[in-house]
Amino acid sequence: MGTVDYKGPRYKIVIIGDGGVGKTSLVERIQGHGFETKYHITIGANISVRDISVDDREYKFQLWDLAGQQRFETVRGLFYRGSHAAVLVYDQSRQESFNNLERWKRELFSSVGRKVPYLIVGNKDDLEKKDIPTELLLNYVKKCSSEFTSVKINYVVPSLITSALTGYNVYSSIELLARSIRSYIDDNHFD
Ligand code: GDP
Ligand code: MG
Repeated sequence: MGTVDYKGPRYKIVIIGDGGVGKTSLVERIQGHGFETKYHITIGANISVRDISVDDREYKFQLWDLAGQQRFETVRGLFYRGSHAAVLVYDQSRQESFNNLERWKRELFSSVGRKVPYLIVGNKDDLEKKDIPTELLLNYVKKCSSEFTSVKINYVVPSLITSALTGYNVYSSIELLARSIRSYIDDNHFD
């Protein structure tokens, strides 16, 4: 995976969230493959590499998009192992997918064995139906950030809304992820 001569940091990023929220579609967009309206259930995990240059720094992301077998713990353990960061995705038209972010986050932290920086993405912004008021999202993000503060980690959990259909904010999300990882490392003197 990736080229041998690359000297910059590599980051394993897991993309998590309920089935159908648009994880695979977002990754497809990030990879420049356009948008697919048909629903293909992901088998296992889709792993792809994406290089990005942000603020004159190079990042090599290995994006792990979890599949349909979200129920099987053996698969999930491997999936999460060694993750540096995560993208937690919900569907703005499905309240339940937002409520379940908490569950995904707990599983992420317990599987990786420590806290990792993450980004919250509310997808399907093109849809008329919006179940999660901005205030609710901002309150949640605040609560998430305080979980880092309480263990003396400086990290403000970033969030943004996207549409894999129109492409809105998709590139921004990957840039934001890069900046977030950077600040997580710099602000806490981690390697
Ligand atoms: P995953 O299970 O989280 O990987 O979700 P998918 O990427 O497979 O998407 C599930 C369904 O939602 C598919 O039919 C997609 O075409 C659709 N979808 C994904 N993202 C968007 C979006 O931003 N807007 C709309 N309207 N539909 C989307
Ligand atoms: Mg998928």
